[in-house]
Amino acid sequence: MSQEIYTKTVENLKKLKLQMMAEMLDAHISNAAKNGISCLDFLHCLVNDEVEARKQKAAESRIKQARFPTLKFLSNFDFKFQPSIEKNRIEELKTLRFIETKTNVLFLGPPGVGKTHLSIALGIEACKCGYKVLFVTLEEMISSLVASLADTSTQFKLKSFVVPDLLIIDEVGYLPIQERGAQFLFSVVSKRYERGSIILTSNRSFADWGEMLGNGVIASAILDRLLHYSFVFNIKGKSYRLREKKEAMSKETSEIAAIVS
Ligand code: ADP
Ligand code: MG
Repeated sequence: MSQEIYTKTVENLKKLKLQMMAEMLDAHISNAAKNGISCLDFLHCLVNDEVEARKQKAAESRIKQARFPTLKFLSNFDFKFQPSIEKNRIEELKTLRFIETKTNVLFLGPPGVGKTHLSIALGIEACKCGYKVLFVTLEEMISSLVASLADTSTQFKLKSFVVPDLLIIDEVGYLPIQERGAQFLFSVVSKRYERGSIILTSNRSFADWGEMLGNGVIASAILDRLLHYSFVFNIKGKSYRLREKKEAMSKETSEIAAIVS
């Protein structure tokens, strides 16, 4: 093949926005020549590179749009440290069937037990599989809805919490919620009911929700819808944050001991 044809082909691939094929053409030509690869296999590998690169790019863009506060992965989760979380139940969630069946996931437990970690990790799995995800703390969600009242964009804002395939509402229960906040939470939960999954994390047990939301009627209406189709994880265990802190402190203590001895 002449250099001229090669250059023209790369140009054409770029014109067609097949960037990865343009980049990989040379490597695949050499590989095909060296290993006697058929035309069909050559084309298959070249096109496959383009498809994979696009999948990766799309997943990266969905992860950005999800607005995760940080990136966490299931592979980094230490199940031995938190035995109250059954690994096989999380593995089942990893299949993402819960998104298809519009089932909710509730992670309940004290601070530091991995509620946010697991929520983000499942959210990332969902992004990788092509689902639209949005991560928000309850406080952020309520304040943006309250702010939207000022310029009558409330319906538009509400829609942004209803449209994603998966909405992650983190930190329910840390801060007091006013009546309007509770009503907004009800709106989001009821609009998503049977239409889209929610992953919700909370440090409060369901019995406390009436007091937390300042209204027992709204609390039971929200819980009724959230729990109808749901997986609930009651995490009872030690804080991973404190473990890390303790490890750091004991390292520091032994370093000091080594210096002074
Ligand atoms: P929670 O949301 O329950 O308060 P986080 O999920 O924010 O707790 O966890 C606190 C920190 O500890 C995070 O950095 C998280 O990645 C880490 N962490 C918590 N549990 C585990 C675990 N079992 N294995 C690995 N890291 C963990
Ligand atoms: Mg958290």
